[in-house]
Amino acid sequence: MKKIILCKFGEIALKGANRAYFEKLLKVELKKRLRAFGKFKIYSAQSTVYIEPLEEECDMDAAFGAAKNTFGVSAVQMALEAPKDMDAIIEAVKTDFMPYIEGAKTFKVEAKRSDKKFPLESPEICKLAGGAILEACRGKMKVDVHNPEVTVRVEIRDYAAYICAGQVRAIGGMPQGSNGKGLLLLSGGIDSPVAGYLMAKRGVKIESLHFESFPYTSERAKEKVLDLANKVASYAGEMNVHIISLTHIQEVLRDTIDEDYFTLVLRRFMMRLAMKVARKYWCDAVITGESIGQVASQTMQALVVTDIIADMPVFRPLIGNDKEDIIKIAREIDTFETSILPYEDCCTVFTPRHPRTRPELAKVEAQEALLDVDALVEEAFETLDTVVVTGIE
Ligand code: ATP
Ligand code: MG
Repeated sequence: MKKIILCKFGEIALKGANRAYFEKLLKVELKKRLRAFGKFKIYSAQSTVYIEPLEEECDMDAAFGAAKNTFGVSAVQMALEAPKDMDAIIEAVKTDFMPYIEGAKTFKVEAKRSDKKFPLESPEICKLAGGAILEACRGKMKVDVHNPEVTVRVEIRDYAAYICAGQVRAIGGMPQGSNGKGLLLLSGGIDSPVAGYLMAKRGVKIESLHFESFPYTSERAKEKVLDLANKVASYAGEMNVHIISLTHIQEVLRDTIDEDYFTLVLRRFMMRLAMKVARKYWCDAVITGESIGQVASQTMQALVVTDIIADMPVFRPLIGNDKEDIIKIAREIDTFETSILPYEDCCTVFTPRHPRTRPELAKVEAQEALLDVDALVEEAFETLDTVVVTGIE
């Protein structure tokens, strides 16, 4: 009997007239992700994407794991496909299906008949399938309709009947690429990979921009960022990581401006460069991992002074989160252990002893008047180098 994976939609099911578009993006993404595990037929009907193996060698467990981690899928189920005939369903339940519920002591059967032409009604289907399980388990299982250990579902759909037990919660979100493209400012810290993950989960395609300060930051620090980018890409899909050197700007700032304004002026340079990269790569917004009040450069006033530079939206999905909440997500998406590796970041090079926490725009601008801002931006932009990460380890 054929095994098949059923992926249930989350929000896509609510998309009305645009639903076909979202479904298509989801199927394209699943196709890409499952390629490594064999040949599959992937199609959708009745709010479900079906993943059907086309050859013996298909690794169904790996495919199940990949489907579970694909944005846009809210639940996954391994199911058996049977012909739409009650005798065939009973036979499938008694033989191939029993290992699916091995070990459980109590069960109940639920039936759903979306094909109303099927000659039996749901209660009868439940009764017959339940009887088949009782017969096959030889007294090891009992029916418990109120609090069963497993719920067996028999679904009579348009093309076939499906028998499955248990539905596993999947990652949720919206299909990749369904919500524009954003440029993630990716540091080696805890927050920015989480910010990228959360926006990707809402369907935003991600490009990343990392600023380095070689030789003040090391090659290993860059490797760490690429590892983090790869982790983000394992959810968000293949991703460009742009790298720009801030070394010269930082040296000029160190030698020219009031130390207290160093971080703020540097962040405004980062934002200017982010705008240029975002426009060049067709991004509609910039994404950062900032959270209000977390450090001196993330006070409300500091964010305002940096935001003035931006001529497109800057999304900060973590703005209202405590560090603890952010760490929890970082652990779930497996970026935390990499993020806490102790390598330097460009923001920790030449940090002032008394950074301004309530900067006045006029004073920041007065500091910048001491510099040839445009020339420094152009020169840094010239250092742009791009690495592609696939998300595969
Ligand atoms: P994170 O854990 O993301 O590094 P953080 O608490 O260290 O955050 P900051 O260093 O102040 O905070 O940086 C705030 C945000 O600015 C980061 O979340 C990131 O989006 C961006 N950022 C900081 N450093 C860099 C960098 N070297 N390259 C690119 N973006 C950066
Ligand atoms: Mg940081």
